[in-house]
Amino acid sequence: MRDILCRFLVIGAGPGGYVCAIRAGQLGIDTVVVEANKPGGTCLNIGCIPSKALIHAADEFARVAQFASGESPLGISLAAPRLDLARTMQWKDDIVGRLSGGVSALLKKAGVKIVEGWARFLDGKTVEVETEIGIQVIRAEHVVIATGSNAVGLPALPFGGPVISSTEALSLKALPRSLVVIGAGYIGLELGTAFAKMGAPVTVIEALPRILPQYDAELTRPVGEGLHELGITVLTGARAKELTRTKDGLVIERSDSSFVTIEADRILVAVGRKPATEGWGLEAIDLDMDGAFIDIDDRCRTSMRGVYAIGDVSGEPMLAHRASAQGEMVAEIVAGKRRAWDRTCIPAVCFTDPEVVVAGLTPETAKAANIDIVTDAFPFRASGRAMTLASDTGFIRMVARADNHLLLGIQGVGAGISELSAAFGLAIEMGARLEDVAGTTFAHPTLSEKVLEAALKTLSQPIHI
Ligand SMILES: Cc1cc2nc3c(=O)[nH]c(=O)nc-3n(C[C@H](O)[C@H](O)[C@H](O)COP(=O)(O)OP(=O)(O)OC[C@H]3O[C@@H](n4cnc5c(N)ncnc54)[C@H](O)[C@@H]3O)c2cc1C
Repeated sequence: MRDILCRFLVIGAGPGGYVCAIRAGQLGIDTVVVEANKPGGTCLNIGCIPSKALIHAADEFARVAQFASGESPLGISLAAPRLDLARTMQWKDDIVGRLSGGVSALLKKAGVKIVEGWARFLDGKTVEVETEIGIQVIRAEHVVIATGSNAVGLPALPFGGPVISSTEALSLKALPRSLVVIGAGYIGLELGTAFAKMGAPVTVIEALPRILPQYDAELTRPVGEGLHELGITVLTGARAKELTRTKDGLVIERSDSSFVTIEADRILVAVGRKPATEGWGLEAIDLDMDGAFIDIDDRCRTSMRGVYAIGDVSGEPMLAHRASAQGEMVAEIVAGKRRAWDRTCIPAVCFTDPEVVVAGLTPETAKAANIDIVTDAFPFRASGRAMTLASDTGFIRMVARADNHLLLGIQGVGAGISELSAAFGLAIEMGARLEDVAGTTFAHPTLSEKVLEAALKTLSQPIHI
């Protein structure tokens, strides 16, 4: 096979790599992208998109089941619903297939060459790719490592049999008779909530003292209440030890050092993700590392000239939109534009019930940075729109500098609040002050009005409370 010579090579076609390659192609750069699996990466194939499809299906089922229980305050009743999980999964797979095909089409439209196979570095400008028809060598002037991340396993509970990662959980053909989720981070809670809504008994085990430990307790309290209402058992300060000999139970050590065995048809290990730095020849190029991640500067440059790293492999937060933003920036840098990473915030969303959005600094992180702040929150229980949606749990909270009211962070928890993450991010990125938000007219009746109310309340001028 003849070697491919190109100006720009991207390894991995997740939201980091494919966005980078498309933008590079649009800018007229001769670009090749190598992908071992399907275009779209973790996000599109086994992450963001399939999980949100499943969460939506579970929400719909739970809504109808509530009507059937005769407990709907809306006065709607109907016969008990049934769930055909195999069909739900087919619907989810169709969405994934459509989107992955769309990514391939966009790459081709941008003139990007796609090479299917596993890439391995020979040196900083050369990789070899194991393709179906043999080894393809590619030489490039600039290379982007966008290899993403993989699920972390537990040595005592290796993946296989009843022990699954989020990838297998997103493809189950039957509802587990009992599901134990190890890890109360966003992935574990999103999937645990979805399966509970579909009717599976769910237990969540978390080693730390509270769920979603990376967020403050005020934000996560409504999520804990939501789990309780769904009948999900949450064991905090508890550690999964081992499978029972019959492999249908899990031994757990509780915070008081006592042991308990719980039934577990499936055990979803969701204790985190680690950057994908193995198997592609990192040792051949010997890049500087930042802990487990590849060390990058504000232009995503690694310690080797001409080699960039973006997305999950390059640091926290491991989120699709960070990867894409980095990818777009690197393509422009390679095209000769002056760009550097100057984002003020990368909003993070937990699609739990209720949903959580964190953008920018929280009161805790602002105080830890020794910034003098003003902060306050406006509750959804005072929102007419939230009431008409029969969902008035949660709040929006603002964090601003005390001296000039520059917005440093906006967080919130509530049904459907994920869609407000755009308003939160926009206000912070545009350098808005509390007075700017308070001087904006928000349409009535919407949940977004509470962004205005939260700004007014933080300015000690609340109207509707
Ligand atoms: C269940 C779940 C839910 C999630 N939900 C969200 C969410 O709601 N919002 C959000 O922002 N993020 C979410 N994430 C995280 C998100 O998926 C990742 O942050 C994102 O996919 C990272 O993008 P990336 O381009 O860095 O890497 P990836 O998407 O991991 O893509 C890397 C690609 O590189 C390929 N690759 C790796 N090595 C090689 C090689 N040597 N040769 C060829 N190809 C290679 C892989 O096959 C893969 O396709 C979720 C993740 C999971 C698991």
